[in-house]
Amino acid sequence: MFHTSFIEIKKSAYRQNLKFIRSQVGDKVIISSVVKGNAYGHGIENMVQIAESSGVRHFSTYSTDEARRVNQSSTKNSQIMIMGMIDDASLPWVLENGISFYVFEFQRLHAGIDMAKRLGKKALIHIEVETGFHRTGFEWEEKEELLKILKDNQSHIVLQGLCTHYAGAESIGNYVRVKQQIKRFNEFKNWFNEHGVNFKIYHTACSAASMSYPDTIMDMVRIGIAQYGFWPSQETYMHKFKNLDENMKNPLKRLISWKSRVMSTKKVKMGDFVGYGTSFMAARDTTIALVPIGYSHGFSRNLSNLGKVLIQGKILPVVGTVTMNSISVDITDAKEVKKGDEVVIIGRQKRHEITVASFGESTQQVNYELLTRLPQDIPRKIVS
Ligand SMILES: *Cc1c(COP(=O)(O)O)cnc(C)c1O
Repeated sequence: MFHTSFIEIKKSAYRQNLKFIRSQVGDKVIISSVVKGNAYGHGIENMVQIAESSGVRHFSTYSTDEARRVNQSSTKNSQIMIMGMIDDASLPWVLENGISFYVFEFQRLHAGIDMAKRLGKKALIHIEVETGFHRTGFEWEEKEELLKILKDNQSHIVLQGLCTHYAGAESIGNYVRVKQQIKRFNEFKNWFNEHGVNFKIYHTACSAASMSYPDTIMDMVRIGIAQYGFWPSQETYMHKFKNLDENMKNPLKRLISWKSRVMSTKKVKMGDFVGYGTSFMAARDTTIALVPIGYSHGFSRNLSNLGKVLIQGKILPVVGTVTMNSISVDITDAKEVKKGDEVVIIGRQKRHEITVASFGESTQQVNYELLTRLPQDIPRKIVS
């Protein structure tokens, strides 16, 4: 192994999550697999392979570079949708490859139409409307001008979708805002329909909205975090939990495990400090194992003297500061630990499990952030 750690992605867990998501959204709805942020750290190429082999044929990315990776790894001719950034210079690639994309401002709309005319290819567009998220999207006041452009350019565009995004469907604190967004979206939809413009599909829901607000499901759902086996929030879980079958405890399963090996061990005398500075002093004669992962690999410095790993089936504490490339683990109470032993940073070993959330909580990071910080160059392999 050239690398100091590796990540495993479990295919059977994906299948199970997809089955659960399908049971929530119904048979007819398109499930778009959201693979932005390097597929929430799982690796775009792996996730495209796993998702396609499980029947998924639609992927959502944030940007063109991600779309290109999906396009290169897809073997099933899946549809790809860019929800965020496209540089005008990459529009030819987008159109040539039949990638659909969000349009949330007139500049991009005109750029798309101009490029479609130049290339003799239709632009596949999703009109994003402002319903209360206040990030991107056409305003209610812009709808007449928008309608005119869409009507005048019918031969250069395909009205693939009308869409919006909710401002925090994972928290009940945003209930009123989300409800207003749903209402506003339906007003947009009805207005366009009444004015003779119909879109192929209407889509608004992310994982949390799909689970907590069934009205938001429509023709397609854009599922990120849930397909990777995480609840968008504790609240979403609790909300769903009261409707879940008693013996079906948590239906979402983590795909990802992150593992390394013990690089070396060392004995430290009582009273000695371990690592940089004085943050950890051995309170007894101590044995330390060095594990070659550090903050450059996404193991946050905030986990200094706080993190836990599994070795020989035991939960063991990180002592001293997390450094760029390594952590020290106190193995005094695990006498059998030796160089080369497997270290689990995320995942299961014998009876114990370290979840992403368990170390997320202790450093104030949420699953989303922690996952996407896992560097792309840690090798990832698919396991069944
Ligand atoms: C990230 C994202 C999603 C998926 O969100 P999850 O909470 O991970 O399901 C859906 N839609 C848009 C526009 C997004 O940016």
